[in-house]
Amino acid sequence: MKLQEADAKSLLVAQGLPVPVWEVAHTAPEARAAAERFLADGADKVVIKAQVLIGGRGKAGGVKLAASGAEAEAVAGQILGMDIKGMTVRKVLVGPAADIVKEFYLAAVLDRAERGILLMGSAEGGVEIERVAETNPEAIVRLHAHPLLGLQDFAARELAFAMGLGAHLKAAVAIAKGLVTTMKAYDADLVEINPLAIVRETGPDGTTVERLVCLDAKITLDDSALARHPGLEDLRDPDEEAPEDKEAREAGLTFIKLDGTIGCMVNGAGLAMATMDLVKRAGGRPANFLDIGGGARADKVAAAMQLILADPKVNAILVNIFGGITRGDEVAQGLIEARAQQTRDVPMVVRIVGTNATEAAALLEEARFQTAGSLDEAAAKAVEASRAAGTAGAVA
Ligand code: GDP
Ligand code: MN
Repeated sequence: MKLQEADAKSLLVAQGLPVPVWEVAHTAPEARAAAERFLADGADKVVIKAQVLIGGRGKAGGVKLAASGAEAEAVAGQILGMDIKGMTVRKVLVGPAADIVKEFYLAAVLDRAERGILLMGSAEGGVEIERVAETNPEAIVRLHAHPLLGLQDFAARELAFAMGLGAHLKAAVAIAKGLVTTMKAYDADLVEINPLAIVRETGPDGTTVERLVCLDAKITLDDSALARHPGLEDLRDPDEEAPEDKEAREAGLTFIKLDGTIGCMVNGAGLAMATMDLVKRAGGRPANFLDIGGGARADKVAAAMQLILADPKVNAILVNIFGGITRGDEVAQGLIEARAQQTRDVPMVVRIVGTNATEAAALLEEARFQTAGSLDEAAAKAVEASRAAGTAGAVA
């Protein structure tokens, strides 16, 4: 799960990291009011940033400065509703504009191969790190945190010096260590600060000081670990989740869309994988991975059917259920209900074995479903049905 910049920054603040203040606004007048508060507090300018779950907002025109409340309102009005790489901007972050001296890059990422946390830092901040990796790979410093002790002071100092942050050593060490603590505290896969910036600030006595701050923040959380962190689910942005992902999550289904034509409804992740393999072997292409889970009842089956049918590419459906905790007759009942409601008529092949398979078979026969005894047979029939539908579609 990707977090919006403002939410990612809240987590950083909770871990004691230096982040400039901000407010989130949903309308241009709200942005103006926020800007006026920051300007009254002594800011020369404010920064207005699109909140969308995509990088490169700056280049796309989604990050702008404004010097007055009226200008902030106008700029926010331009950014709100803007399309950035397919995402519509629905909110903006407003904060005092930073006077940037230099931009750096610093991130903590889960390194699966090394089974640990990898820190990546660079003095080439503000630009896409992938570009730096391509054009100037030596400019990226890499270092692993200790698996038990986290990022140790000496390692953090080594990283800071290598990044050219010797003049801000104390702050750089605290931030690097803070990224690792943040990763661990929330089970994040990625905590990225780009830019980590040296900014110039004027104190109340008029003297200027330079300070290291996290100007942007990107955090990706491990979905499978969300159950360990009760409050974090609330940070999911409903505006930016694909509708089918949302439906699947709410119905308790594991659903991954693919680009084939045969919709698959299966119980159990392993069986779902095997079913997809067999569809491929029979010459077809699965339209999705869908695990309805153990003990699925009729309503869950109906929800799964709706998800499958919502994909216009689906022209055949293969249902493969191995009844254990899941009762075959419950699934059959669910299929009958789903078909009664469905808006689109798609050929379906059903294979149900295991618990209450006999009762399921009787129900399916009465409702005139096409059934199959073995998985190979089911896959072959589904592929044939999909081909026939595809040809029919091509002719029509
Ligand atoms: P991204 O493009 O989506 O990564 O958004 P960022 O938050 O990283 O902003 C992009 C760029 O805008 C940064 O690299 C900065 O150069 C610039 N920027 C962001 N915030 C400020 C700010 O407060 N003041 C100034 N002067 N520039 C900023
Ligand atoms: Mn950035």
